Amino acid sequence: MNQPPSITALVTRRRFLGHAAAGAAALTFAVRGRAQAQPKKLGWCFVGLGDYATKVLVPSIEMSEHCWVTGVVTGSPDKGRLWAKAFRFPETSAYSYDTMARIADNKDIDIVYVVTPNALHCEHVIAAAKAGKHVVCEKPFTTNVPDAERALAACKAAKVKLSIGYRMHFDPYHDELRRLAREREFGDFTLVKGGFSFVMRQKVWRAERKLAGGGPLMDLGIYFLQSACMASNGVPPVAVTAKEGPKTRPDLFADVEETIDWTMEFASGLRGEGSTSYQKNLNQVRAEAPRGYIEIRTAYSYNGQTGGTSKGELHFPTPISQQARQMDDFARCVREDRESPVSGEMGLRDLKIIEAIYASAAQDGKRVVVKA
Ligand code: NAD
Repeated sequence: MNQPPSITALVTRRRFLGHAAAGAAALTFAVRGRAQAQPKKLGWCFVGLGDYATKVLVPSIEMSEHCWVTGVVTGSPDKGRLWAKAFRFPETSAYSYDTMARIADNKDIDIVYVVTPNALHCEHVIAAAKAGKHVVCEKPFTTNVPDAERALAACKAAKVKLSIGYRMHFDPYHDELRRLAREREFGDFTLVKGGFSFVMRQKVWRAERKLAGGGPLMDLGIYFLQSACMASNGVPPVAVTAKEGPKTRPDLFADVEETIDWTMEFASGLRGEGSTSYQKNLNQVRAEAPRGYIEIRTAYSYNGQTGGTSKGELHFPTPISQQARQMDDFARCVREDRESPVSGEMGLRDLKIIEAIYASAAQDGKRVVVKA
């Protein structure tokens, strides 16, 4: 096994999140020391060891207070052995997708974190629930409403807790957006505008309907959709309209949208104007009310946001890992036997909104009622 380069990669990832880099030996020492000193951390099993799990969730779980990796599900036995060594769990706790059901017998695994491509979320959430494990599922919850309903029902039937990996609920700037919506300091928000986009340069599963369920709306637009629902104090829109933009690279985006712009009409009078694309860069949100506004720049980045309100710039202590906060919060939900505020129902709600947006785009921008 080629351990040193991968451990170095883990160290690089720590630097990526703004933490002091440490040497490979130091990481090994830290892993060993922490695992022994805090045996009561809840055990997490990551399903899908791709970019997000390895580059972002690994350094985040190291920063968490209540969480540790005690197992993985992967298609690569080499990755499984590497993770087992790095986190000091037995190699028998590295499962394949075919043997995932066996986590039911693993007492060290409390929580399963599903980090596979979108279209696989449903079957992996159901497998985790059937194994009696609490589940966090990455966004989007699934790729369609019926799958989300099935996954939610499986978690309820198994009496396990479920949360969606909406990390912006653990971002202090979005905390402020939600506080302003709740306390109405500037009055009710009337307009929320923004979006999330990046330029996709090569074909990956995110641009394939079969695995992604859609294009940038499923992957990135869902972030603004979340912000807009925060501005409406959690109440979903009553109706949407949407228009798909022209495809500048139809070879990359054969069966998904490349760009989509949409509006959201809320019962309160709030209007949302969102945009998402794989051919431009956009990363911001602004919500306006009669007596003030909030604006978040680089709104959806993992860290390094800036932003302010009509009263002045906002400053929060840094660095804060959204993902460490997210995992710790879910661990506390499990310990204290309470439901996550970032619920499976919220994941289902968002898929209903997304399906309405796609339905409107398919009908050239016709107003479509959201049945959320
Ligand atoms: P990735 O392609 O880097 O990793 C996906 C992993 O799933 C890989 O290890 C791959 O081997 C595995 N896999 C299992 N079965 C597969 C199959 N049939 N086809 C392809 N891959 C398969 O993707 P990622 O960026 O890690 O994204 C994974 C999930 O995490 C997605 O749902 C994505 O939306 C979500 N994500 C969330 C955030 C966030 O900020 N919350 C950020 C990035 C990704």
